[in-house]
Parts: sequence; C-alpha cells; structure tokens
Amino acid sequence: MERLWTSGSLGRNKELVERLQLYGIIKSKKVAEVMEAIDRGLFVPPGSAPYVDTPILIGYNATISAPHMHAACLELLREHLQPGMRALDVGSGTGYLTACFAMMLGPEGRALGVEHIAELVDFSINNIKNSAASSFLKEGSLSMHIADGREGWPDLAPYDAIHVGAAAPEIPQPLIDQLKPGGRLVIPVGTVFQDLQVIDKKMDGSVSIRSETSVRYVPLTSKAAQLHSN
Ligand code: SAH
Repeated sequence: MERLWTSGSLGRNKELVERLQLYGIIKSKKVAEVMEAIDRGLFVPPGSAPYVDTPILIGYNATISAPHMHAACLELLREHLQPGMRALDVGSGTGYLTACFAMMLGPEGRALGVEHIAELVDFSINNIKNSAASSFLKEGSLSMHIADGREGWPDLAPYDAIHVGAAAPEIPQPLIDQLKPGGRLVIPVGTVFQDLQVIDKKMDGSVSIRSETSVRYVPLTSKAAQLHSN
C-alpha cells in the first residue's frame, strides 16, 4: 500500500515538473531531473496540496515557496551548483531547495541551510531524511543550521552560490562578503514591493546587480519580529 502511494506521489510530482517545463520556467534537463527526484510532497505539512503551483503555509509565519520560484532560482544558480561546488541557502524553511542544491553539488560538494526557527530546522531535517537527498545529510555534504541567516555562515565561506528565501530590506553585506569571486547570490530585496536580485561577484571582487523579476516573499527579519507579525 505504502509503495503504491509513493509511486503515485512521485507521479504527481513529475507532472508538476512537466508543467513547469511546458511554461518555460524549467529550462534545463539538470533542474528537471533534480525537481523530479526531490518530491515536493515530502516537504509540506500533512493535508496540503503540494503539486499545485502555489506557496503553502508551514507555520511560524513562513511558507514553502511556490514551485515556479524554486525552479526559477535553481535555473538562475545552475552554473554555480556544479558537482563539488559550495552553496548556502538562507531561510531554508522546509529544506526543499537545500535538498535540491545537495543533489546538484553531489557528494564532493557542500550544501548548507541556515534557518532561524529551530522547529523548522527539525522539520527540514526530517523532510530531507525521507527524500532522495538523505544520503547527503548522512554523509555530511548537506547540513542544516539554526542561525540568523543575515550573517551568512562564515565558517564555510566563500560560496559559489548563495540563495535567500526571504525578502531583505537591503542586501546583507556579510552575504556579499561570503560570495566567492565568480559566484552568484540570488535574493529578494524590498519590503512591500520586492525584486528578485541577482548579484554576480566578478573575479576582481567587484559586484554587478540586476533585477530579475517582481516577487513576494516573507521578510528576512529577526525571529521576534517574524513570530509577532500578523
Ligand atoms: N526556501 C524556503 C523558504 C521558506 S520561507 C522553502 O521553500 O521552504 C522563508 C524562511 O526564512 C522562513 O522559514 C523564515 O523562518 C526564514 N527566515 C526569515 N528571516 C530569517 C533570518 N534572519 N535568518 C534565518 N532564517 C530566516
């Protein structure tokens, strides 16, 4: 029975990926493969509809991002998520995207999630353990940490790729500092109106910034402010 359910959910996950390919949001084979392997259904609270293209509440005033946002960010970071590279996922929430990063980086790479709500870090670890990325967690190329992501994670810097899953009023300087020359940071910036910004650090250390699209994310803020909002 369990096996039937599993194959059914993976089938629905595959259909979601196919729709994102059809709409041109997933452009590469690599991103399609990874999103097919990581079943979104394993990363949402029971009773929610994981295969619909919308964000879902996960408690603590947080959401799992919509599949099209996960896909867009994976495409923007694809060249910076090659086997053996190092990536940081700030505001890792459910752990979905960190798990995708680990799949792309492989056992020689390093994927880190940083999230300031301890319960969500526990939730994400459980989700990952049930997913195709579990071996990376076990063998240490994937790890999840409780911390204020506005400070990045200096211990393992510099990073080829940094993703921020919550909107910052401005780009936190530590994240720019922790980017490797040649690396890329993708971060929603703004309060009410937000832009998904792409920051590239050139080999000489200078940075270029462009806006990719308008987005709406939960704020990158203090834990107290997040838990007392609404
Ligand atoms: N990519 C995640 C997004 C989760 S929503 C996913 O799809 O599951 C954004 C997350 O950022 C929330 O879990 C929230 O708790 C977290 N967050 C907000 N401000 C933070 C901060 N200063 N440090 C770490 N995490 C933060």
